[in-house]
Amino acid sequence: RTVLRELTKIDTGIILPDPMPVMDPTVYHKRYLKEMKELGAGHFGKVSLYSYDPSNDGTGELVAVKSLKQDGSHGNHVPDVWIKEIETLKSLSHINIVKYKGCCTELGGQIVQLVMEYVPMGSLHKYARKNRLSMPRSLLFAQQICQGMAYLHSKRYVHRDLAARNVLVENDNLIKIGDFGLSKYIPEGEVYYRIREDGDRPVYWYAVECLKSGKFSFESDIWSFGVTLYEILTNCDPRESPPSKFNELKAPDIPQLNFMVLILMLEKGIRLPCPRDCPHEVKNILNQCWAADCSARPNFDSLVHRFDTIRK
Ligand code: ADP
Ligand code: MG
Repeated sequence: RTVLRELTKIDTGIILPDPMPVMDPTVYHKRYLKEMKELGAGHFGKVSLYSYDPSNDGTGELVAVKSLKQDGSHGNHVPDVWIKEIETLKSLSHINIVKYKGCCTELGGQIVQLVMEYVPMGSLHKYARKNRLSMPRSLLFAQQICQGMAYLHSKRYVHRDLAARNVLVENDNLIKIGDFGLSKYIPEGEVYYRIREDGDRPVYWYAVECLKSGKFSFESDIWSFGVTLYEILTNCDPRESPPSKFNELKAPDIPQLNFMVLILMLEKGIRLPCPRDCPHEVKNILNQCWAADCSARPNFDSLVHRFDTIRK
């Protein structure tokens, strides 16, 4: 029979298709994904550690899987922001940005889960609370954040949610930026993205112009980097967190810190204090990142070089 088939092939010149379909490594099948533990939950999603083992012989790989929070608010519809987050991450490739691995689709073809590389030491926020960050390590991590952000900006994306909770620690010498849930593409020739949606927003990490007019730009990511650098330098100590510090800084006659009060404080020039033992050059970086005039803020490329000099 084989001989006959071979003969037919020769006779007709038709090459039969490869009987094994080409496997798409970015397609993850739900039935082979086994949940191991929950890694964290944020505003929009839940992230869990899974083992993916299609050959079912214990040689599976560990992956981090982000699922949309299923609180019923989306109904059966997968929101656009979720598809955008996946598209953004797919198009990025940098050592300091969490790596996209693929998607898992539900029957019917809706993308419900985002599969990423598993970053074993978790968020920088958690890491810093467990392991005191020495000054050299703080500066190394800060520089790596700037490297990942310089790349992101070169691709014309703004992150909009840069904070220690959204930076992941691979090992004691390597961090990766994660959580692209709020990131936005800024078309060439435009300088900012204006938000329309409302909701849970990380206001204490926002630049003053974002609070006032919802204008997000490359420069507003720099402001958030300043707040992230502040978190690193304070070891993510909750007593010194941006929300608790701003609460301490508000005038005593103001009962409640809110959005408007925060704007007024920032407009008066009130800023987070300089963390203890912070070198003079790093203090300058913090102040420049928080300049009211966004054109006076440094960019990530220049910060990478400045951290080179400071770390020498
Ligand atoms: P959200 O958009 O809901 O804020 P994140 O992407 O920030 O979700 O993830 C929430 C938490 O899950 C993070 O703070 C971190 O602790 C953990 N996490 C996220 N991605 C990974 C990953 N790839 N590897 C390990 N832990 C992760
Ligand atoms: Mg997050």
